[in-house]
Amino acid sequence: MLSVIVPVKDEEEAVGAFVTRVSAVLDGLRETDGTPLSWEVLFVDDGSTDATMAAICAANRADPRIRALSLSRNFGKEAALSAGLDHARGAAVVPIDVDLQDPPEVIGAMLEKWRAGFDVVYGVRRNRQSDSLPKRMTADLYYRAHNWLSMDKIPEHAGDFRLLDRKVVDVIKVMPERNRFMKGLFAWGGFRQTAVEYDRVERRLGRTKFNYWKLWTLAIDGITSASTVPLRVWSYLGGAIALGGILFALFVIAKTILFGSDVRGYPSLMVAVLFFGGLQLMSLGILGEYVGRILVEVKHRPIYIVRETVGDA
Ligand code: UDP
Ligand code: MG
Repeated sequence: MLSVIVPVKDEEEAVGAFVTRVSAVLDGLRETDGTPLSWEVLFVDDGSTDATMAAICAANRADPRIRALSLSRNFGKEAALSAGLDHARGAAVVPIDVDLQDPPEVIGAMLEKWRAGFDVVYGVRRNRQSDSLPKRMTADLYYRAHNWLSMDKIPEHAGDFRLLDRKVVDVIKVMPERNRFMKGLFAWGGFRQTAVEYDRVERRLGRTKFNYWKLWTLAIDGITSASTVPLRVWSYLGGAIALGGILFALFVIAKTILFGSDVRGYPSLMVAVLFFGGLQLMSLGILGEYVGRILVEVKHRPIYIVRETVGDA
């Protein structure tokens, strides 16, 4: 069976069109022996406050292969995806957005690669023309920064739209962290991975849920969960500065012994104080980022809470 998991937050306009198009695509897929492929679509309602659930319930009445979980509040897309992975039943699982920016037709190509022996088939956007220039530039910068800082490289311009084999899903399910940066978790898991290319279109129904601040927060989650380089860099920087300080002190001592002292030097003193003050606050802030994350992890609260299920999800 193939499970398609769909996180949704306030998407009443988009659910109907999504169900129509995805059902048609999935009904067209075949097992290797030519029989129709069995499938399920699992919506994860991430605390929607509009008629999203009503739309999903209507879809479930029309086709029981469409199921849903409804979370008790908005937990964020990463948590919603975790919930979907936990409740999916398929031998292969495909997370996809409801806005049809990722064409479901690509699932067929993913299935082919999966049958050819790959465990993770991620979709890579052939171009990002549907994104604005600032979005493209910041996304580019992010992938570079992440992959430079982290040991587990995430494929550039691959979203959450991908096919995961059951064994990969089972690995992700037992990862205990609360900070669910899914792309990072997928990358960390390893397995045989490959890509399929596709064109990402613009969102036609509903509005994007990610503004730049949310994307920035997601970027920090991604980097801090995958890399400790931002913590360690201060030791090296501090060491280099201390070494410079010692050399400078030797110079000052020698100069004082040879030429006596003079009281000039206020500007350089001020510059040094301000520079190091700023540097120290910044490194403290980065420490704080990690300490805050440790706090969240040790609290061990659940990643999401299910309020209700539709169609024995
Ligand atoms: N989404 C979610 N919870 C959130 C925000 C978004 O489940 O808190 C869902 C949303 O309904 C959509 C998917 O995540 O199905 C991707 O969101 P969106 O299309 O707004 O992101 P973008 O494509 O702009 O990056
Ligand atoms: Mg979208």
